[in-house]
Amino acid sequence: MPISSGLNNDVIRVGIVLPEDKLQNITLSWTPEMDVSGSISGIEATHQLKLSVKDGSIVAQGLPEQPLLDKLTLNCNDQVETLSTGYGIHVDPVIAGRGFHWEKQIAVDLPGQLNITVEDDCFKVINTLNIEAYVACVATSEMGSEAPADLLAAQTVVARCWSMALAEAKHLDNGFDVCNDDCCQRYQGTSFLTEHSLNAAVETKGEVLIHQNRVIDARYSKNCGGMVEDYEAVWKGDSVPYLIPLWDGPDQRPGNAVTDFEDLWHYEDAYCASKRFQSVNLAGMLGKVDVSGSYYRWSEAVKKQDILNNLKKFYNLTWNSLDNVHIVGRGASARINNLILTGTDSQGESVEHHLLDQYDIRQMFSESFLYSSAFVIDNADTLASDDSVMLRGSGWGHGVGLCQMGALGMALDGISYKDILLHYYPGTELTTF
Ligand SMILES: [Zn+2]
Ligand SMILES: [Zn+2]
Repeated sequence: MPISSGLNNDVIRVGIVLPEDKLQNITLSWTPEMDVSGSISGIEATHQLKLSVKDGSIVAQGLPEQPLLDKLTLNCNDQVETLSTGYGIHVDPVIAGRGFHWEKQIAVDLPGQLNITVEDDCFKVINTLNIEAYVACVATSEMGSEAPADLLAAQTVVARCWSMALAEAKHLDNGFDVCNDDCCQRYQGTSFLTEHSLNAAVETKGEVLIHQNRVIDARYSKNCGGMVEDYEAVWKGDSVPYLIPLWDGPDQRPGNAVTDFEDLWHYEDAYCASKRFQSVNLAGMLGKVDVSGSYYRWSEAVKKQDILNNLKKFYNLTWNSLDNVHIVGRGASARINNLILTGTDSQGESVEHHLLDQYDIRQMFSESFLYSSAFVIDNADTLASDDSVMLRGSGWGHGVGLCQMGALGMALDGISYKDILLHYYPGTELTTF
């Protein structure tokens, strides 16, 4: 019986520049050796196109004439075996970390096909490429160049499964399968591709985890905080038999859920615990943007004014004061997924606001975005009169499925990528499609 997945064939369409990025000027360039073809004549003779938007169309500077175009298509090779660092069409700029506190403009090198159009007077760029080339680049974009081989192999298989399962399908209405950012999987083309990670992709080529003969929905996050979260606690809906709570460590811990946050807080043997990484170059292993603080255990003083601003910004609620935060429900990893804010509105009336999603909670309790919703409030008793909410939390991300820092901890312990994968996705089988 053939293995089923969410892709129709072996290519994936990645949204690189979205209309919401509001980009009206983009430069495309490539080296003379690169065999680039395109939908307009003269492309082969040039190696740089400066694109801008004019009256809802594309203006391409760099060609003998400057035609107004509705769309532009460029092609170059995308077979995984022939990729190398920097191979592809150089696109500058592209947004990385869309909507997060580390949002910035970068440049990327993209193999395969680029489709450029204009929507709402801004550019939209879609990169269509072979799934194996995509997977090689994604594993690199998520990991640093010094990552251990088993971590890269595990991450590569997970990226392949996630991409092929296409369970979330957040962007199908926009004409592509996945976006280039943390919303889906971080993809920066071949810009940071290393020989090391390319090898991981080629060596695991076609390898996927399956459950009931279907490619699994391989969720992953940065740091579970000590216990892997339950799928249902984050995405609701039906349970997923291989995305279940488990202690992320070598020892057998009692129970399959955190019942006492302080017990979790003092759990130091987890594969993702900070102490495992004290003598390693974490930036080299996990990528540059990931090293901005602590992730396994963290503390944050959130100004109540920031929360009031967020109530206005995201829910158009004008409150005078925030008086209490009532935590109603948590998932197995202690991530809060049910919470009530209470306060007073501009008339002085008592009001409350209910949050039922870990994402919304992370958005609310930060000026930018909170690491995770697994936290306790240390000044709950005096909150009504304090200026800030004192949070103590664990983990980074939703915590479901593979824990990237835990997988690093396991790899550093000499555990093989197959055993890493079966630890995080129990009951699945590793096979080749
Ligand atoms: Zn996305
Ligand atoms: Zn973990």
